[in-house]
Amino acid sequence: MNKAIDLRSDTVTRPTQAMLEAMTTAELGDDVLGDDPTVLKLQERMAALFGTEAALFVPSGSMANQTAIKAQTDLGDEIITHQDNHIYHYEAGGPSGLSGCSYRFLTGEKGQFTADDVKAALRPTESHFPQSSLVVVENTHNRGGGSIWSMDRIKAIHAVAREHHLKLHLDGARIWNACAVTGQSPADFAPYFDTMSACFSKGLGAPIGSAVMGDRATIRRCHRYRKMFGGGMRQAGILAAAALHALDHHRDRLVEDHTNARRLAEALADMPHVSTTPGEVETNILYFDVDPNYMSARDLSSRLDSAGVRMLATGPQRIRALTHLDVSAGDVDRAIGIIRDVLAVA
Ligand SMILES: *Cc1c(COP(=O)(O)O)cnc(C)c1O
Repeated sequence: MNKAIDLRSDTVTRPTQAMLEAMTTAELGDDVLGDDPTVLKLQERMAALFGTEAALFVPSGSMANQTAIKAQTDLGDEIITHQDNHIYHYEAGGPSGLSGCSYRFLTGEKGQFTADDVKAALRPTESHFPQSSLVVVENTHNRGGGSIWSMDRIKAIHAVAREHHLKLHLDGARIWNACAVTGQSPADFAPYFDTMSACFSKGLGAPIGSAVMGDRATIRRCHRYRKMFGGGMRQAGILAAAALHALDHHRDRLVEDHTNARRLAEALADMPHVSTTPGEVETNILYFDVDPNYMSARDLSSRLDSAGVRMLATGPQRIRALTHLDVSAGDVDRAIGIIRDVLAVA
């Protein structure tokens, strides 16, 4: 039997042989003691790539976001963010649990909001109200279907944030996908954000790791919180080597994932019992809806699973699929055939 085509997430990739070789030959030290040369090299590389003074290697995207939030808020503060953001839904309550912050939720299409939305959410500086201190933008937006933010929108939000002394954090777990489409460099975002995060274990295919970027003083604070949150790692150069290899070899190919996602969406749009809008697929994430008269998303995903295509039901009638390094154009063709066969059964 063929191996299952796993479209549940772009985190399911396995390290390539070349990546494993880079890992096993990496020069190592003890990063908690600050002398792992491969980690230091990765951090320098990331700071240069993102145009910041400093960068910090962390075990997960959640820890990148949570150290940045902790470093830039006080207990009782309010974080202004879209109601669909990852920091709220998928980080186990980190902002409240670790930083004592509440949220001021914004709405808007595809996980995006505007400078006017931020302005309208600001609190008067008066002792009754929580203090707004941080705005979080997610690019590309996960629940927003991998949507890409325009630079104009970001610039306008930055102007409001500056005027009102708010910090601005970019949850850039998939910033690589945005850059692959727009041709932007990660450093293009640096003028507008105080901190930025990026993930190595999603589209780039490393087994573990993210980074948080910012000025030296803020990253020093993130470093302390990384230790506090239990994220200090010793011979972490093994992992940093995978991230460096991914930066060198897996960024250019991200456009293939986008082409594959679009093709899958186009095929789904022509199938019975499901609906999707291929034109809305901007990167490697696609969502489609299952006709409630047919069956639930959970039932369909479990049928697909048995047939060899794995996807995630993210709502009663909604299924998510992501393309990635371990899914070839041929795999997508095969997945399309399997989905068509499954849907042909009444
Ligand atoms: C995946 C993801 C993260 C981090 O997730 P971890 O599982 O903690 O690595 C953060 N933000 C966004 C938008 C993500 O998609």
